[in-house]
Amino acid sequence: MCIFCKIVNNELPSYKVYEDDEFLAILDIAQTTDGHTLVFPKKHIVDIFEIDDETLSKLITLTKKLSDKVVTKMNATGLNLLNNTNESAGQSVHHIHFHIIPRYDESDEVTISFNRKSKFDLEEILNKING
Ligand code: 5GP
Ligand code: ZN
Repeated sequence: MCIFCKIVNNELPSYKVYEDDEFLAILDIAQTTDGHTLVFPKKHIVDIFEIDDETLSKLITLTKKLSDKVVTKMNATGLNLLNNTNESAGQSVHHIHFHIIPRYDESDEVTISFNRKSKFDLEEILNKING
């Protein structure tokens, strides 16, 4: 059983930000910034490719509500909303979740940077996607 399923079953402790019959939101054990929260369905669903549209709609709507709550209550000024899918993207717990990472200022603990490739062909890329 995965870590989040164990948390859902109360076999592992957690700090619960929100709970209903279908969803759970907990504080991430490693707080990137204060208030770093994970939101996920109670049902074990691996990732964005596996989740059905209805559950995803509810999950993202709940994530929006909790984002608002966490940012407001924590006096944050913004947030990063993050989903990692598969190891190549940094997914370590294979039970779908969104990270709510409150942001306070540009010098807080988070650095997100996109390296720019020096060479790429937009037409070739678009043909791969749409061709
Ligand atoms: P991922 O890397 O899969 O996108 O994110 C998994 C997150 O789960 C990580 O940020 C990690 O700190 C968090 N995490 C891992 N184990 C536990 C745990 O036992 N309890 C809680 N609350 N968070 C956990
Ligand atoms: Zn699970």
